[in-house]
Amino acid sequence: MMYPAKRRKQINKGMILRICCLALALLTVVLAVTQTLMARHEAKVIQTLNIRINELEAENTKLGELVPDITLDMDGALAYQSLYPEMIVDPKPVFADQPGQTAYLTFDDGPSANTYAILDALKASGQKATFFIVAKNIPGHEDALKRMAEEGHTVAIHTYSHDYRGIYASVEAYLEDFHQAYTAIHDACGVYPTIFRFPGGSVNAYNHQIYQQLIAEMLRRGFIYYDWSVSSEDATGKNYSPEQLTQFVMEGTAKAAKPIILMHDSGEKKNTAAAVPEMVRQLTAAGYTCAPLTGEVRPIFFGYQS
Ligand code: ZN
Repeated sequence: MMYPAKRRKQINKGMILRICCLALALLTVVLAVTQTLMARHEAKVIQTLNIRINELEAENTKLGELVPDITLDMDGALAYQSLYPEMIVDPKPVFADQPGQTAYLTFDDGPSANTYAILDALKASGQKATFFIVAKNIPGHEDALKRMAEEGHTVAIHTYSHDYRGIYASVEAYLEDFHQAYTAIHDACGVYPTIFRFPGGSVNAYNHQIYQQLIAEMLRRGFIYYDWSVSSEDATGKNYSPEQLTQFVMEGTAKAAKPIILMHDSGEKKNTAAAVPEMVRQLTAAGYTCAPLTGEVRPIFFGYQS
């Protein structure tokens, strides 16, 4: 059966319209499905990222526990490095070979009345020594420090307070005490010391929490510290006689490659002061020259404990 031309046109239009509607519906469905799939994928990505964030946070907490509690300033430098900027050795000492057969007499914990007797004995023999000063003991003994400087000995820092617990409480506490001593010694004799000795030695029962930081900071500032290789045994509480002290020193010196001899010139060490004339006589008779420690003498360090 044949439709008239007008009727055929109407049928075509209807079909086109239906096809269009169908296409539109299909497109809507495809879009909806795509959106759902994308949403699911995003949710998965977010979930993975959340897991990674949690892992990183846990790792960060763990690392935070491992890093020691060090105060950093705005530039990231250790804050104590900026304390007392004038307390620095410039130029830094350069180590140089020293003549063989040199003994280094060192006296800790003075000045006291005993210091003068030691200075007299050294002057009479022409020998030199190093005095590691406890600066709280200076008042009344400024002239002893002046003599040390004038007579060619080394005026060095031991501490201001000699309070082990106080000075080793932190690097900052140590620097504060050291600065006090540094200033007091300069006020007394016009010398800024460049060498020092840690109270109790560089590694001791009081500073094991901070000694590595402390040593690093003091060396950074150019100060050289000296432990010892020979002990006179005058700080053992046994009250050895001057003859016994001399014997300990001579025996220790004979064995040491570089004899840095520990003695004390605090008020109660009368036997040490009394021992010095004979000790120096025996040392020189054995071929030794007693010289002061300077930054040029390679130091003796106690070993780090691991
Ligand atoms: Zn001491």
